[in-house]
Amino acid sequence: MKLLRFEFDCSKQVPWYGYLCNQYLNYQKLNLTIGLLAIRHQADSHLEQQKKPVITWRYLLEAEGEQAQLEQLAEQIAADFLISVNLLDSRILLATERLGDNKPIDVTAAQLPFCQHCQPRLGDNQHTDFANLTLTCEHCHGEQATKSLAKVAGLQRQDIQQLAMRLLEGETLFLDDVNGKLVVSRQAIGSGRQQLLVCNPNTLNSLFQVSDNEVLALSSIEKPLLLLRPTAAAKLPAPLYEVGFAASRLQLVLTEFLRVKGVDAIYCHRENQQALYAHMLGMDIPVRTPMVILNQAKLGQPLPETLHDSARFGQYVAKASGKRQQQLTVSLSDDDSIWDSTEASNAAQCALLGIAAEDGSSNNLGLLYFSDEYCSQLLTSDDKGNVSCFMQIPELPVHGREIVAALEASPQQGVFAKFAEQYPELYQRLMQLDLSDCPKQSLKTLWVVAAVIIGIQADSNAQLADAFVAAAMSNTSANAPRIDYPLVSGDSASFNWCKTFGTLISFRLAGDEDAAKLAFAMNDSLADFIANWIERLDLNTAIRRVYLAGSSFANPVLGRRIALRLGKNFALGVSQMQDLDGALLAAGALYLRQRRR
Ligand SMILES: [Zn+2]
Repeated sequence: MKLLRFEFDCSKQVPWYGYLCNQYLNYQKLNLTIGLLAIRHQADSHLEQQKKPVITWRYLLEAEGEQAQLEQLAEQIAADFLISVNLLDSRILLATERLGDNKPIDVTAAQLPFCQHCQPRLGDNQHTDFANLTLTCEHCHGEQATKSLAKVAGLQRQDIQQLAMRLLEGETLFLDDVNGKLVVSRQAIGSGRQQLLVCNPNTLNSLFQVSDNEVLALSSIEKPLLLLRPTAAAKLPAPLYEVGFAASRLQLVLTEFLRVKGVDAIYCHRENQQALYAHMLGMDIPVRTPMVILNQAKLGQPLPETLHDSARFGQYVAKASGKRQQQLTVSLSDDDSIWDSTEASNAAQCALLGIAAEDGSSNNLGLLYFSDEYCSQLLTSDDKGNVSCFMQIPELPVHGREIVAALEASPQQGVFAKFAEQYPELYQRLMQLDLSDCPKQSLKTLWVVAAVIIGIQADSNAQLADAFVAAAMSNTSANAPRIDYPLVSGDSASFNWCKTFGTLISFRLAGDEDAAKLAFAMNDSLADFIANWIERLDLNTAIRRVYLAGSSFANPVLGRRIALRLGKNFALGVSQMQDLDGALLAAGALYLRQRRR
């Protein structure tokens, strides 16, 4: 007889895993025990510990039996525990004693639209159950969500085939789906960054630059959207796309009809449904998630008491409830009776406070908040939790001619005059830039100007910023030139952007025409400067852990370079229970010391 333990380490709780563990309590052949452990890694311990997430959630199942019985169990568990985007690691080990027991794990809302049992039936055009959206599955019960929405439940195979035909004829469809409104089309939808729904996962590699980990994430039960760069062969016009797989039964069947017709992917729009995820510090974190609940059960420790009962930040409303306000719920809401704390200059502080609620303490933290929407800042908190802003991303003039005027009046005037002479076309593009649709004090705006300087072409400012990020992602050069980000002090310290663009221009003039290398260098050098600033700050205010937040981290290059440069000397962290730039801010606003009108 041997005692085996199956462990699944996750960056946050996965309700589906809890549900599966509970199911295994009914396993007939062996006596199983289960458990869910919260493992916290202290920032001040050994450097190897610093590399770990702030908290790891470990699901475990244990069984004692003969070799053959255990092998059979292992096979079944491997098949049942589908990949989650939050799964960090899994293992089977020989145990000496049981850590779990036979009490069910507290699970709320464990639902899947389909699973490995029903997907091959309802999603395969050769199967007799194909396109039966209400097909009963005793494993995932995905039919329940479908049945709760009559408009979807009533769709027959011919109806969905009709929808596919209309799509192929060029129509844009506005459909009701279990998660909300679904828009699908063969043409781009709206003018922003496009979402693509993959119809044929086998062609993913020919359409996008995608790693094995990204393929696993896309296939995971959470069905995330990932920011991917198309291959040259795909001939897709935009530099970056938000790409995802079918996330509902209707989408599964519709994409199967389209796949058979040779369609690899279609444009789609699923507002606030499938979250875009960023890969940071070895974890996948949603940029904005539709809903967050924080309480002792979710955090593994008590939630600090909030200062306010409710608050809005952007599209999100946070509410505290329960005894001593120890539960916090954040959701998308248009309830306008809630006090609105949305202010671009407060976003970073709200992010820090939202993270502190999760961390358990607001003392001795550093925060790099880089947002494509709100004011980007580097904050620290002292040993009493007082927050101060060390620096913020500079605000560029709105008109290109003012940017040009500033460069011509700066010590960089010489190098800029040569640039104007050597690249008259780029000079004209700079003069004509209009940044009025760009966020203030955001890296995104900086990237737009840098993209023009290094000669990237695109149709809009948003696409210029995306093309700049895509260029940095495609870099293959081992050594990057060093771009300057010199600090300028003042009421709100920032860096001298004239000098930054000046160094970029001087590399361009020196014959460096490799846009990928220069875009990468802008990211890498910024990460290097940040690492130096934080080291200096740490001398005055001891920094226990540096957290990263904000939607700009959807740019994987920036996050990776910061992790590499800063992670050498500091413990890093990211909100694991919330998101990067959505619910997090509203949660933090509940802790914001501010007099309310
Ligand atoms: Zn199923």
